[in-house]
Amino acid sequence: MDLGEHQCRCSPLLDGMLNPRDYPLAGRHDTAHSTTIQAGGLSIGEGAFTIIAGPCAIETYEQVREAAKAVSSEGLHFMRGGAFKPRTSPYSFQGLRQEGLDIIARVKAEYGILSVTELMSIDEMDAVSAVADIIQLGSRNMQNFPLLHAAGKQAKPVLLKRGFGNTLHELVMAAEHVMSEGNTKVILCERGIRTFDPAQRNTLDLMAVPILKSVTHLPVIIDPSHSVGRPQLICDAVKAALALGADGALVEVHPEPSAALSDGQQSLTIDEFHACMVEIRKLAAALGMDAQ
Ligand code: PEP
Ligand code: MN
Repeated sequence: MDLGEHQCRCSPLLDGMLNPRDYPLAGRHDTAHSTTIQAGGLSIGEGAFTIIAGPCAIETYEQVREAAKAVSSEGLHFMRGGAFKPRTSPYSFQGLRQEGLDIIARVKAEYGILSVTELMSIDEMDAVSAVADIIQLGSRNMQNFPLLHAAGKQAKPVLLKRGFGNTLHELVMAAEHVMSEGNTKVILCERGIRTFDPAQRNTLDLMAVPILKSVTHLPVIIDPSHSVGRPQLICDAVKAALALGADGALVEVHPEPSAALSDGQQSLTIDEFHACMVEIRKLAAALGMDAQ
């Protein structure tokens, strides 16, 4: 049988069906070196575990201020929160849009924190990148190729979330789309995929972490919130990802989850977040890593 092209799938770097040689820019080519990405003066990647915490959606100044206080009181730097929200229903809260970006800018200035916020449309590129230290591209847009290309033409780092119905190969190819336009600062995020099992909101594919780390040189983080979808499981998911070599986690935290306009059911309270940070730091220390 002539295997043709497939015969070359014999490299020691071979990892399941993913082959680094298929990814000229994102692939790990004959090197143990992993890329660290500079964002707002911090390095994301090897040696540090980066926690990005905050609400699902930007709702009010007070809400974002409480999240920022929680983040900075832990000595962390990155706050999440969307001003543009991709919602299943058009009748749900869609985000405060420019008003939300203004709140992020105000809280950043007051608390000296860095912001991760979602870009949904090329039209909002300038407004979002004016306040984002890292631009998030969401699960639903992982294969929005014009958006990927636009993100690749600008300089801010990109947090690229796995589509909930996409393979890891498609995720790495989506990163390749961004990188091929010039911006090589891409962070990959496993955020759970659709399976038959409703026990998690989306099934967290933990093996995505070691697979992506071995096939690509890019930082890999997980989102426990949109995957496991329940506060009780979130800390376990983060610790498992840390033990597997992930570079960080994106965690939803809300000062009053029961009043949240989006994803309150999966958001940690601020107390739960602090309790989880104690556990994360213990494990990080045992692994010789810093949580930042
Ligand atoms: C989010 O992180 O705010 C979000 C909408 O997540 P996802 O794109 O993974 O659904
Ligand atoms: Mn959310």
